[in-house]
Amino acid sequence: MNSSLVEWAAMVRAILLTSLVPFLIGAADFTVGSATAGSGQKATGYVAVPAGVDVAANIPVIVVNGARPGPVLALVAGSHGTEYASILALQKLAQAADPAQLSGTLIILPLINVPSFAQKVPHLNPVDGKNMNRFYPGRPDGTQTERVSWAIAKQVVEKCDYLIDLHGGDLDENLRRYSYLATTGKESQDSVSRAMVLAFGLDHIILQDFRTPVAPGAGVSITRFAAGLGKPCVTAEAGHAGISDADDVDSLIQGCWKVARHLKMMTGSVSQVEHPLWLSHVSVVTSELDGVFYPLVGPEAYVSQGMKIGYVTDYFGKKIWDATSPIAGVVLYIGAVPSLKKGDTIAHIGEIEK
Ligand SMILES: [Zn+2]
Repeated sequence: MNSSLVEWAAMVRAILLTSLVPFLIGAADFTVGSATAGSGQKATGYVAVPAGVDVAANIPVIVVNGARPGPVLALVAGSHGTEYASILALQKLAQAADPAQLSGTLIILPLINVPSFAQKVPHLNPVDGKNMNRFYPGRPDGTQTERVSWAIAKQVVEKCDYLIDLHGGDLDENLRRYSYLATTGKESQDSVSRAMVLAFGLDHIILQDFRTPVAPGAGVSITRFAAGLGKPCVTAEAGHAGISDADDVDSLIQGCWKVARHLKMMTGSVSQVEHPLWLSHVSVVTSELDGVFYPLVGPEAYVSQGMKIGYVTDYFGKKIWDATSPIAGVVLYIGAVPSLKKGDTIAHIGEIEK
């Protein structure tokens, strides 16, 4: 080919790639697990995780395939199956989502840890005793938590452009709403994540550092895994102690919609949180012994270093230990139930960024 023909061919190819292909992708079916949604459609199904060293799992998934092309936003909740407000938020959001109004695709997993939800077991997957937000990318031949993590890593995280992971206070946690912003050191990715977190709208934001080393072969949270693949992320928490307050549920639903609007997947303007309280570090207070826990502060209380935040009695009611705050800061969550054993978390205290 002569040079003008080469240029012409390159130009045609560029036009095809930039204009035609997105429409072709937009018009195509989008499949996650057994849910296949055509353009402008919504579908439900399951991500099937076959039995291995333990029982099989079926993770419910909703695909909302927009009528117009755009990015893929994954919304996940319920890796801790008794953080109910976050699970109900994604159920309601999936019901309300209208593919006709959407540019791009939502992949919604409202409940990752079905056994935890069904059996009312906080923190862990009762099938294998593992935390379902610590083992990404998982492995195909591990225990159920690892196999589920592997399936979600392959079928959801790798397929999405952006990810929001919803949590909240678990059955035994009295929690104040907050979100996390993680630094990866990749400037353009971090600035997108920052804008997403500010669009989400919660006004307490904990700073995380994903540049800290991870032991070889060790699993990580879903957002840390996604961020490692270059996907901007938000983690947000609302809800507490087994209660699903309408305000908590709504704050998570509205946060997801605001991020979708910020990403131009839906029309409408988004105002960002103007003056969030940035929290630079979280101190964890754990119990030094078994006993009965009595909180002395609530979530969002400002505490000074050394201040009493609760106490522990023996089973006869005699006080045996004072829980004190190791730092000055704000109570992000505090134990919500009397049950307590040595090593259990009593509180998370956020240190205010100077
Ligand atoms: Zn959680």
